[in-house]
Amino acid sequence: MITFAGAGPGAADLITVRGQRLLQEADIVVYAGSLVNPELLSFCRDSCQVYNSAKMTLEEVMEVLERGEAEGKRVVRLHTGDPCLYGAIKEQMDRLDEKGIAYEVCPGVSSFCGAAAALEAEYTLPGVSQSVVITRMAGRTPVPERESIRSFAAHQATMVIFLSAGMLRQLSEELIQGGYAPGTPAAVVYKATWPEEKVLRCTVETLAETAEAEGVRKTALIVVGEILQGEYERSKLYDPSFTTEFRQAAEQLREQQDER
Ligand code: SAH
Repeated sequence: MITFAGAGPGAADLITVRGQRLLQEADIVVYAGSLVNPELLSFCRDSCQVYNSAKMTLEEVMEVLERGEAEGKRVVRLHTGDPCLYGAIKEQMDRLDEKGIAYEVCPGVSSFCGAAAALEAEYTLPGVSQSVVITRMAGRTPVPERESIRSFAAHQATMVIFLSAGMLRQLSEELIQGGYAPGTPAAVVYKATWPEEKVLRCTVETLAETAEAEGVRKTALIVVGEILQGEYERSKLYDPSFTTEFRQAAEQLREQQDER
């Protein structure tokens, strides 16, 4: 059996219980060495064969996965964060489909969640933003023009920008051209949940200088939006005057009691 598993954002104890069990039982592990915490490999048995995919091509990875499957081994393909974001898992799954090899996916805690925890932030605040745009600047992988940072910035929703820590001047320009005020709160979160985590709060305009001052060039997320500071409306969910499926509003309860 082949399982694509999320390793979590960094801290070794932020893998899921299921992910940890998969590592403990694995005969073969292929891990994304550029970002997966190597401490996670200590969950593997001594006999487990471990491969670092940072040094391999897709073809080489597939060969290891397919050989493991043919030998009846338990194979784990370990991706950073959650595999569904920038994980390049689809091309692996498609090749397995072509060969009729079954697989499963075990989710993980994405780094955008790790960054929110580091910031002690809620990405969706009532009256401020109810949406989160997860995107990136174009790099070697192009981004379709209709998904430009400028076009998303026009929504003024919370944005979490992956894979762009090396392009912060351009990112600032695009965010501002798109409609964010230069003073909009922003943050650079470097290696969220790792021991060397850095949380750098700044504004849209000062992203590049803030990261440069701390020597941050990669493994960072950029968070942008008014949710990082300022006003919001209290939630309806926990409002005493609001009835939910699980709780009746205080006012309604009183009325009912009066009627009785
Ligand atoms: N699947 C991963 C993302 C892989 S793309 C996930 O769900 O998190 C790699 C990019 O993710 C990095 O360039 C960086 O922008 C971001 N990243 C991954 N781990 C991070 C962390 N611990 N802190 C901040 N950014 C991180």
